[in-house]
Parts: sequence; C-alpha cells; structure tokens
Amino acid sequence: MKQLASNQALEWEKPKLYANYLLHQKHINQIMANCNELFSLYNSAIKLSEERRTILRAVRNSLRKKIERKFNELIFDETLEFHSQGSYVMDTIITPKDDDYDLDYGVYFLGDKSKEDRPDAKEFHDAILFAVGEDESYADVTDKDTCVRVRYDKEKFHIDLPIYYADSPTNPNLAHLSKDWPLSNPVEFIAWFEEKVASGFQKAFLYERRMFSEYKQWQSDIRKEDAQLRRIVRYLKGWSDELRGEVHTSGSIYRPFKPYSTVGCYC
Ligand SMILES: [Mg+2]
Repeated sequence: MKQLASNQALEWEKPKLYANYLLHQKHINQIMANCNELFSLYNSAIKLSEERRTILRAVRNSLRKKIERKFNELIFDETLEFHSQGSYVMDTIITPKDDDYDLDYGVYFLGDKSKEDRPDAKEFHDAILFAVGEDESYADVTDKDTCVRVRYDKEKFHIDLPIYYADSPTNPNLAHLSKDWPLSNPVEFIAWFEEKVASGFQKAFLYERRMFSEYKQWQSDIRKEDAQLRRIVRYLKGWSDELRGEVHTSGSIYRPFKPYSTVGCYC
C-alpha cells in the first residue's frame, strides 16, 4: 500500500513537472499545442485504476453477501435488492489526493407499504447497521441522514449504502433520516448523464438481470472509450479535490448540470 501511495504521489507530480519544463523552455506555442497531452496525463493520474476498481468490486460483493446473510435473521415483509449507482457506473470516479474514494451502492427494500404504513426510515437504517455488523476490516461504520457509510481501514475507501423503499426499483423513496421519504432515483441521474454522453446506456442495464451481459458489453465496448464528458467531470472533481476545504465537496460539481436533490443521492 505504501508503494502504491508513493507511485501515486509521483503520478500527481508529473503534470506539474512537465508544465514547468515547458515554461522554462519558453515554448509558449508548444504549451498551447500540448495542453491535450497535459490533460491526458492528468486524467491518467486521477482516473481510478482498473486494479482499484477490482478491489472495490470484491469488497462491495463481500459486504453485500454479509448484509444478505444477516438480513435473514430479521423479520421484514420486504425483500432486498442492491443496485450500483453514481460515479462507479458512469466511470467518473477519481482517486483523490487523500485516497478516500467511495462507491455508492443502493440497498432497496422492495415492498408495497405506503409511506404512512411503513416503519420509520430509522428502522431501515438500523436494519442495515445490524446487517453490516462489525468486521476487523472496517475502520468505522456511521449512520448518516442519506446512507450508512462503511469505511475500510486497509483499502482507505468507503462504501455508502443509501437505503430505499420501493414497490419496484424504478420508483424508489430514499430512507432519509430528516426528510419524509423523498423520491430519489439514482438510475434516472445516470440515464440523464449517459444521454449527454450519447453512450447508448439503457436503464434496463441496471433494472433487469437479463440485461447483465449487455451491460457488461456496454462497459467494455463503449464506456471504456472514455468519452470527453467523463474526462471533464473527472477534471472538475480533481479540481474540487485540490480546493477541498475552500469549496463544497466534490459532489457539488453536479449542480451546474442538474439539481441533484430530485434525481439522486450523494452521500
Ligand atoms: Mg458516496
């Protein structure tokens, strides 16, 4: 992990060193001509590597299995489903300077109770807290208004578990601890973003199990091409990360595109 950290520090320095070199050479025209190269270098420095995605995926799957196992000990009329969401799906996830990147993984309680008839949102949070339980790999587990957050000690990332109640995953209410079950559909946000990218993404990729192989195909054929808009989002998130403490958190970069409160949950 130490080696990874020092390599990453080196990657961060590369764009700055190259820019300084060009400035010292007084090749102003060359700087203009090579901006693309600088951005490309910066993109490769901040884009979450395939190696880290693989680790993230393995930890996520193991957490899901644990939640499913422990959930069976509880008495709920509803069934559980899980759906990936956010920057992990859109591949706009970055490796921030302090290494604390995250993955949002929606937990769906599927049932037919109206808002008035179902238990308080807190009961659903408590059920997930119980199911997450304790583990020596956790740094800590915290209950937030919009999700349960599991931070991992060794890997230095966290998994956010926003909790939803829905009669189907297409119509979810967020179990928010200080708001009354707001409508919040992260898949709609992904669909909106992917439409801007013109990537051919289909909501059914996430909603329907039978589409899984097509979803994987889309990931390897189209998403891997790394459209300009995905890179621009990473640059903005990287910039926001650089200014952390001076501006709102990185999630706020989505605000210029669309008010996020109606379409997604940013834990
Ligand atoms: Mg998050």
